[in-house]
Amino acid sequence: MTGHQPPPHHQPYPPQQPHPYPQAHPYGAPAPQGCEVCGAQPAAAATVRAHQGMVVIMRTITRRGVLCRTCGLAVYRKMTSETLVTGWWGLLSFFVTPFVVLGNLGARSAFRRLPEPYGARRPPLDPGRRVLRRAPAMLVLTPLALALAAIPVLFVIGLLADGDGDGETAGLSVGDCVHNTAEWPEQTLLKVDCGSPLAEYRVADEPHCGPSDYLLRAEYLIDPPGRPGYCVTAL
Ligand SMILES: [Zn+2]
Repeated sequence: MTGHQPPPHHQPYPPQQPHPYPQAHPYGAPAPQGCEVCGAQPAAAATVRAHQGMVVIMRTITRRGVLCRTCGLAVYRKMTSETLVTGWWGLLSFFVTPFVVLGNLGARSAFRRLPEPYGARRPPLDPGRRVLRRAPAMLVLTPLALALAAIPVLFVIGLLADGDGDGETAGLSVGDCVHNTAEWPEQTLLKVDCGSPLAEYRVADEPHCGPSDYLLRAEYLIDPPGRPGYCVTAL
């Protein structure tokens, strides 16, 4: 076996030359060296992130690059769409993901400000469809939109339920039927029609109360006000 001898001279390859533009470029400023993927001009330096939630652990992938408009938008769209799929799966990730998606908008606008690239020496990345036109965005935004749409619907249902006239929460008398919207022993009693499917209990006075009945809180009575000893009996 012949030992592998290190070369006598450690020459870095390719030979290091002084960088033609040694100064750092501020975020989003045109970078004179061109797109690092396709070589086209003009290009901008920007940072795009993708986030992955994995229940307990999570990671954020950061890509900082000097990219032309076409390649930059391709990277932005790919990483943002991936985040919309893989970003939510963890308690912390659920809250990190919106910030990653919003943070990428800075890079997106830096790339969008660039004019159409010219002078590419290699094929540029395929920008594909816009983030909102891709399946991941629809997967996330459709339930979100439905959830938001449900809020006014629930509100209207609540108003209608209240408007039935059966929703009084005070002024119960013996014989009235109630529905408890809270969890016993808490009481948030709604007076309902005794024939209604919501009717759960009937208000009874002391002689008719059994050991398994719940004592009615005094503020629900007007008949006479505040008199103790009433209960609700399961129907
Ligand atoms: Zn490019």
